[in-house]
Amino acid sequence: MAEENKSSNFIKTIISNDLESGKYKEIVTRFPPEPNGYLHIGHAKSIILNFGVADEFGGKTNLRFDDTNPVKEDTEYVESIKEDVKWLGYDWDNLFFASDYFDYMYEKAILLIKKGLAYVCDLTPEEIRDYRGTLTEPGKESPYRNRTIEENLQLFEEMKNGKYKDGEKVLRAKIDMASPNINMRDPIIYRIAHATHHNTGDKWCIYPMYDFAHPLEDAHEGITHSICTLEFADHRPLYDWIIKECETEYVPKQYEFARLNITNTVMSKRKLKLLVDEGIVDGWDDPRMPTIAGLRRRGYTAEAIRNFCKEIGVAKAASTVDSAMLDYFVREDLNIKAPRTMAILDPLKLVITNYPEGEEEILEIENNPHDENSDKRKVPFSREIYIEREDFMENPPKKYFRLFPGNEVRLKGAYFVKCNEVIKDEDGNVTEIHCTYDPETKSGSGFTGRKVKGTIHWVSAKHCAKAEFRLYEPLILDSEEEEEENKHFLEKINPNSLVSKEGLIEDSLLSAEKGDAFQFFRHGYFNVDSKLSTKEKPVFNRIVSLKSSFKL
Ligand code: ATP
Ligand code: MG
Repeated sequence: MAEENKSSNFIKTIISNDLESGKYKEIVTRFPPEPNGYLHIGHAKSIILNFGVADEFGGKTNLRFDDTNPVKEDTEYVESIKEDVKWLGYDWDNLFFASDYFDYMYEKAILLIKKGLAYVCDLTPEEIRDYRGTLTEPGKESPYRNRTIEENLQLFEEMKNGKYKDGEKVLRAKIDMASPNINMRDPIIYRIAHATHHNTGDKWCIYPMYDFAHPLEDAHEGITHSICTLEFADHRPLYDWIIKECETEYVPKQYEFARLNITNTVMSKRKLKLLVDEGIVDGWDDPRMPTIAGLRRRGYTAEAIRNFCKEIGVAKAASTVDSAMLDYFVREDLNIKAPRTMAILDPLKLVITNYPEGEEEILEIENNPHDENSDKRKVPFSREIYIEREDFMENPPKKYFRLFPGNEVRLKGAYFVKCNEVIKDEDGNVTEIHCTYDPETKSGSGFTGRKVKGTIHWVSAKHCAKAEFRLYEPLILDSEEEEEENKHFLEKINPNSLVSKEGLIEDSLLSAEKGDAFQFFRHGYFNVDSKLSTKEKPVFNRIVSLKSSFKL
């Protein structure tokens, strides 16, 4: 992609050196999601890094489903991941499923057994944990560690043939129970799971563990640079051990970078799934979710997400990024793309008493001041309009420049109006404002006679339609206080994360398509909700407000 990261990072430096030294003629990277949930913005960082470096250095990237756990995986997730990667703007060179390599992995396990480097262990999961030792104490060897190669081959075959129950036996690599690296203390490489796999069905009842499967998947595909997040750094010696002892043709190398964390956001499929399962959100694509599907439905653009990821860069030290920074890039992008229009979230009727009854006119208002090619749009104006309730005050404080009795303001793109009368109901609530307008003051007419300090937006009563507006706040409330910090994330849900308002739009917006984004004067950027909106009852999501608390 042309706009891709030109700025450098340590991964690019490694790749560039490997190409220059002739170590590789072409690099191959992969994005390896486990299809056990929808992708989130953290995955976007990994996608953009993996596809980005391959694009920049003329290499290839595989999309590989790391589907070695039959219990949690699902084809719904497979499909959503493909859609999300494409939407972000990337196309894979190959689409692979790790489960297609189960035969290859099984052969490699046999090879390890034959080399005396793997054994079937009958310890219970608890015993295995106890025997493993701690960071300060070495582990203890399993009593099954010295089974003969023949016995191991037979038992492993029986495991494969379904003779044993889940958890009854495992296959372990025979490495070093005294290693200072706990990952090297005879890790489990195969377990028994009598479960139907989304891809291989009931063909297998033994499944490879991540630490064994992942390096073999990389080797099988000829991956050169296997990029993953920091928590796998301690697993790298095991990765290298598997590659070496399995005698693979290709020798991939693992490199680790810091995962993306964002304030006010949970970033783990396990937690996001809980939000969905508990009904706290309306599915994986709820506009409050940090999933790619949620961000897309909310109206965040792929461009903004790419620019955000480019800006945060790729580092080796973990850090947390302010969520306002992502919003900043969304605003930057929509500022150029989104047509301007007017919507009233909390309507108050305004009657222009000296405007001829029954008459109307078409005003021309700029569509997008940041887009030279943008046309003016035609906006009907008439005697009765609606304004925002908060744009009128009967007893205003000092420096209130909007409408109040006796004051004159500009109606955006139209005329000056002056408030003469306030109509109230029996309870004293303001129900209508009566104004007079000055025909001389039409917008664009060059009128210089006098100035007003406030401009307010409006919609014509005869030319508007009802709409629902959904206003969002962060789903999770972060806190600096320790007691708060230690709370379970479900206790930190923001009760105001979604506020719905019934208001009015210019009726021309009824023809907007799902997903279309607009800037509503003063309220921010909104898009037409792809799930809930109908022609009869449009629903708009606020993508971001106009105010930014973040500067680059
Ligand atoms: P989660 O904890 O959210 O389930 P995961 O790491 O288990 O994430 P995978 O499907 O295994 O999810 O991830 C696919 C790739 O995305 C991996 O290479 C992983 O390192 C990367 N990744 C996941 N989360 C992040 C993140 N927050 N920032 C950057 N990369 C990430
Ligand atoms: Mg995972």
